[in-house]
Amino acid sequence: MIAATPELVVLERLLDGASRHGEVSVLVHAEGAGLRLPVHALRFGTDAPDAPALIVVGGVHGLERIGTEVVLAFLTTFLAQLAWDEVLGEALRRCRVCFVPLVNPVGLALRRRANGRGVDLMRNAPPHPETVATPWVGGQRVSPRLPWFGGHAGAPMEPEAAALLRFVDAQTRASPLALALDVHSGFGMVDRLWFPWARTRRPLPHLAEIYAFKQLLDQTLPNHVYHLEPTARVYTIDGDLWDHAYDTRAARGGGALLPLTLELGSWLWVKKNPRQVLSLLGGFNPIKAHRLRRTLRRHLPLFDLLLRATVSVRAWAFPDPARRAALDAAGFAAWFAAGSR
Ligand SMILES: [Zn+2]
Repeated sequence: MIAATPELVVLERLLDGASRHGEVSVLVHAEGAGLRLPVHALRFGTDAPDAPALIVVGGVHGLERIGTEVVLAFLTTFLAQLAWDEVLGEALRRCRVCFVPLVNPVGLALRRRANGRGVDLMRNAPPHPETVATPWVGGQRVSPRLPWFGGHAGAPMEPEAAALLRFVDAQTRASPLALALDVHSGFGMVDRLWFPWARTRRPLPHLAEIYAFKQLLDQTLPNHVYHLEPTARVYTIDGDLWDHAYDTRAARGGGALLPLTLELGSWLWVKKNPRQVLSLLGGFNPIKAHRLRRTLRRHLPLFDLLLRATVSVRAWAFPDPARRAALDAAGFAAWFAAGSR
């Protein structure tokens, strides 16, 4: 029998304190390989359906433990602030902040990317007819024995993926604007912030809002480390969960969900400590203690910016038509025009 992972133990220890300030719940129990582990969600702030919302997610891929650890580091800071920080208290009267720090607890316990049934949760949404997925890494529907298996064609979504999307929908369905950050690791030398779509190289309808967020990020944190770009610049994905969440919200109209994926550049940790590539988890996580601590504090300014951007959404999103056209053109030139990078 595999014991619960340290990340789940830390999360469950935080729930007690969290329940004094917000609402904690179990979205679903994830099962597989004889395990049955809870997927916890936490929710703070106003109940008003039409309030802006921020959703913070981690642990979708079981090998990328650092994603959950980065979310737990923010949650720890957030909970400590709740006890004394009147600025945060005021912010939460105007917005909602939700956490799902560990979406795939069975994958984490089994030390594998997929969930307990061998499904890559990030490729598990219903396929979109427009999808042109990169072969293999973009998802396959052939066999759970091969990597990047998104589930059998026509099968219902996996319980963890379906529960996450239901929760996101319930918390954001009437929000004028909601932001989400889903923390992963494992690609490249820099920390990337990816935005939809992942299924196609075409620009998404809310390119103006994404570019307005880029300006906010660049102007507020001028020394930030992030490379903001559409996921599809790197590879295209069949059944991307966040594409599905974005499309579902966009189809309803009257507001938007802007989901970002933070893909921590794990090749940098491998480069500085080449021996760690020999361990199963070493390709995806910082192993040395000082590097782990640096990673855990490195992203706190981003979370703070996201929280402030959520509360103050009317100050930077919802441009008038002329400004929208300008932002849209700038976004297109930055990410979609021939020769952009
Ligand atoms: Zn991942």
